[in-house]
Amino acid sequence: MDNLPGIVVAGASGRMGQMLVRTVLSSGKARLVGCLERPGHGWIGRDIGECLGGAAVGVLVTDDPLAALAKAQALLDFTAPAATVAFSGLCAQARAVHVIGTTGLEAGDIAAINRAAHHAVIVRAGNMSLGVNLLVRLTQKVAQALDADWDIEVVEAHHRRKVDAPSGTALMLGQAAADGRGVDLDAVRDAGRDGITGARRRGDIGFASIRGGDIVGEHEVIFAADGERIALRHVATDRAIFARGALKAALWGQGQKPGAYDMMDVLGL
Ligand code: NAP
Repeated sequence: MDNLPGIVVAGASGRMGQMLVRTVLSSGKARLVGCLERPGHGWIGRDIGECLGGAAVGVLVTDDPLAALAKAQALLDFTAPAATVAFSGLCAQARAVHVIGTTGLEAGDIAAINRAAHHAVIVRAGNMSLGVNLLVRLTQKVAQALDADWDIEVVEAHHRRKVDAPSGTALMLGQAAADGRGVDLDAVRDAGRDGITGARRRGDIGFASIRGGDIVGEHEVIFAADGERIALRHVATDRAIFARGALKAALWGQGQKPGAYDMMDVLGL
């Protein structure tokens, strides 16, 4: 057991954080060696197993990332952009694999993360599930096969607490469609329609976001032409799919050269 990779989970009290802790503890493939929360969080100094309502597991929640990372081979990070940028620098110092699931990162955040990737392995994906990554590949292929007579729309639905839109996954799908079509997404992106928007511009890739209840994550890519329509759809019903993907990425990253990778690299798609 001692020779299994040591994993730290950031934002351990979050929706994904709790799922990541449970996934690592039950995996038999890695050891949980640390759990991070912000200074002042009520879980600091408590055993994570007890925080999650079970037996103690011998790992106390801490607000000291460097001390936690000193014992670790990887950090699983599904938190918030500012925290993720800070963690990328610390993972580079500690030479730990940084698995980033955080979404809503701005260009400047991504540039900072890519600088850290000169010194450490970073795996970043807006969606860590096998199904969605396959959907991304399928979207690229279908977009490649069809011309701009086919309007492309990406529709996503998530729980009411999600703070960013369109979702990171919707943007991955839009990017895949743009790549397949050989266009720049920024030039054709059409998000947040409201009011008198005018007719749809030929070649645009549209985005629509639904927020409500406890929806884990649903994504559909619609290719609509005159007289026919193709829809590619993925429905996530359990956050465990993202946690399993993140752990897979952390294990895959051991022994890789420093650099910025994504789930396509991990899954070999
Ligand atoms: P959440 O429940 O709000 O959890 C985020 C956690 O991170 C919270 O516990 C938060 O603590 C903590 N945190 C924020 N800043 C921190 C810091 N500086 N140090 C330590 N902990 C910090 O959100 P969630 O639903 O788990 O989602 C988290 C992120 O993962 C979002 O960006 C979401 O879109 C993304 N996500 C990605 C995937 C994927 O497959 N890539 C799948 C699901 C979700 P506080 O409560 O104190 O702020």
